[in-house]
Amino acid sequence: MTDLNRSFPGNPDGTLTQQLAHALHNLLVPRCPTILDFHSGGNLATVSYCYRFDDGGLAEAFGCEVLYGASSYQGSLSHAARAAGAKVAVLELGGGQQRNAHFLEVGLRGIENVMKLLGMLDGEPQPPAWQIVVDEMRIMRPHRGGLMLSTFGPDRLGEQVARGTQLARIVSPYTFEVLEELVAPFDPTVLVLGRDEVTKVEVGDYGFMVANGATARIVR
Ligand SMILES: [Zn+2]
Repeated sequence: MTDLNRSFPGNPDGTLTQQLAHALHNLLVPRCPTILDFHSGGNLATVSYCYRFDDGGLAEAFGCEVLYGASSYQGSLSHAARAAGAKVAVLELGGGQQRNAHFLEVGLRGIENVMKLLGMLDGEPQPPAWQIVVDEMRIMRPHRGGLMLSTFGPDRLGEQVARGTQLARIVSPYTFEVLEELVAPFDPTVLVLGRDEVTKVEVGDYGFMVANGATARIVR
């Protein structure tokens, strides 16, 4: 098995993952001029942002607060579908079994917003209270494994903190010795992905994801 979202457009004679990518790309993509690609932070991390491609205001209309102005990357569903002419928004929402009701609401409202944008539902998309586009994002991956004690939990995503603010400590589960500290790198630093108060972390995991608030553009 390999990462499905690095396997598009797939291969009909390849591995299980490549055959699955091929089937999705050949059966679904041609029927879908607009695609909402839902992702999450996985089992232990909670995330809240959307990729903003130059796709007709799709990501803005969906209504994520933090939009990441990036290009789609080779091997992803979004890249292959966009090359085939579809408009795509990639939504990174929720995960970590945290704030599920909140992210369900954001997701449902977002789907309705896009259907309104496309004229499939009556009415105007409901924008969020604030919305920014960020261009620089950093994944903060611990160099030591252990217990991660987060200073900012999933309820703080979207907030901005000053450079140098402690985001988390990695401690030994045996001695509680502090092995590593994760510190906000930008001024201000926008919190994009975080973890609950105490989680298990391994070397190279997603500890935090943060964006550069200094170069962010305010949409509303
Ligand atoms: Zn993703």
